[in-house]
Amino acid sequence: MRAVHWFRNDLRLSDNTALSAAARAESLVCVFVLDEALTATHDSPRRRRFLAECLSSLAADLAQRGSRLVVRRGDPRHEIPRLLAETRADRLTVNRDYTPYAKRRDAAVQARAAALGVDVETYKDRVVFESGEVRTQAGGLFSVYTPFRNAWLARLATDPPTVRRAPRLPPPIADLRSDALPIPAPLANRDAPEFTGGEAQALDRLACFLAGSAAQYVGDRDRPGIDGTSRLSPHLRFGTVSPRRCLRDALALAGADSHAAAGARKWIDELIWRDFYIGLLDAHPRLLGHAYRTDFEAIAWNDDPGAFAAWCEGRTGYPIVDAAMRQLVATGWMHNRARMIVASFLSKDLLLDWRLGERFFMRHLVDGDPAANNGGWQWAASTGTDAQPYFRVFNPVLQGEKFDPDGVYVRAWVPELAAVPPRFLHKPWLAPQPPPHYPERIVDHAERRVAAVARYEAARYQARAQ
Ligand code: FAD
Repeated sequence: MRAVHWFRNDLRLSDNTALSAAARAESLVCVFVLDEALTATHDSPRRRRFLAECLSSLAADLAQRGSRLVVRRGDPRHEIPRLLAETRADRLTVNRDYTPYAKRRDAAVQARAAALGVDVETYKDRVVFESGEVRTQAGGLFSVYTPFRNAWLARLATDPPTVRRAPRLPPPIADLRSDALPIPAPLANRDAPEFTGGEAQALDRLACFLAGSAAQYVGDRDRPGIDGTSRLSPHLRFGTVSPRRCLRDALALAGADSHAAAGARKWIDELIWRDFYIGLLDAHPRLLGHAYRTDFEAIAWNDDPGAFAAWCEGRTGYPIVDAAMRQLVATGWMHNRARMIVASFLSKDLLLDWRLGERFFMRHLVDGDPAANNGGWQWAASTGTDAQPYFRVFNPVLQGEKFDPDGVYVRAWVPELAAVPPRFLHKPWLAPQPPPHYPERIVDHAERRVAAVARYEAARYQARAQ
């Protein structure tokens, strides 16, 4: 039997469900297709670099086990069938991917593979549970997180996932053409070294987090000035670590160390959010581009390129918003609390369409992931399932004072505020001497809060009237 394993968002050897199945073949070709359609639409230099690092590390890991990574550039709908024909493969293995683009692409590849007489095997791997595996009592899909979480945990108790070791790999087929691996761009000045792609890096990061900050996760996770979260998001995005491995290790910590148990369990909740949003997009592909709540499709967003530019460049005059946006542009990552604050600010204070922010995030985030990003944006803009209610508008001053009380985060990213006394740090316009080189607030939050609620209510009214 000759098998081809097509790597996509599963760039690792251990606990890789489809790869373990493929490894039972007599010979195995491991391939990655540099899909130009994806690199063109998700033009994020940081994700490209992370991917390039993941691929070099995967190629080295495969070589160490006597195998090899074949790289092909082009459209997978042509490249994969071509490789199947070249290798006279009997089987193609893949781990399932749930975005609308991936599902269309995979259906096309499957049809062509079937025409060549190749068995296509698809496996659940990217999530702990797929949307269809966690159902309401009536058999439907959940649209609210908390009952989903409870059902997910109940399923975990009866159906704990297996975590597989890296398999022994059968020999590769010799003399196959491979395109060159992409070369990772060098790190820029403020790029965080923890975002280096590769399985070994992911496992290190997981072990470090669980041995360190996990114990304080409940208290620290909401403080952008503290390095209190795992920063595993790019690894989970590209699959250099499996969610099952994260879950297993967190459960082990919760069982072994009573001081760390609450933190480990809270962290597992975040992995469940990840499954929730992936499942949601799987069930509702229209979410990419459309509000889940159809009554909010009609919101009359402002058309204000100047305000959008100020938001993108971290010059809104609200320190916590500006710190966060500068962190994103400078490092490719932003703390979760800060993501919620800036997303609320864009959609409610600036009254700009959340899809503008969603796109900007995708261009910059090293962990940019269609499901989590869309879920986060629709949550903050109140257009999503189980979202923040539309009349709850984050106050950027109070958010700053609560979650960055000592101003560590703001001072790190907004040097113009260095001389502002602590009690004015999150509202510098009230300081006796406002900082001369820091912008004025571009909007008054109190006024915009009222305007936003009115705008959302008008859309609901209009939807009801139709
Ligand atoms: P930890 O706190 O250590 O959490 C562990 C893992 O759980 C994360 O790595 C991530 O995979 C998952 N996770 C945590 N929170 C969420 C969440 N709310 N939704 C889904 N998964 C979650 N996450 C992305 O991975 N990619 C995105 O493109 C993305 N865009 C976002 C946009 C907005 C507007 C918001 C509010 C959130 C977004 N998130 C996104 C979710 C979250 O902010 C990040 O996953 C988290 O900040 C990553 O840091 P971490 O790995 O240290 O998280």
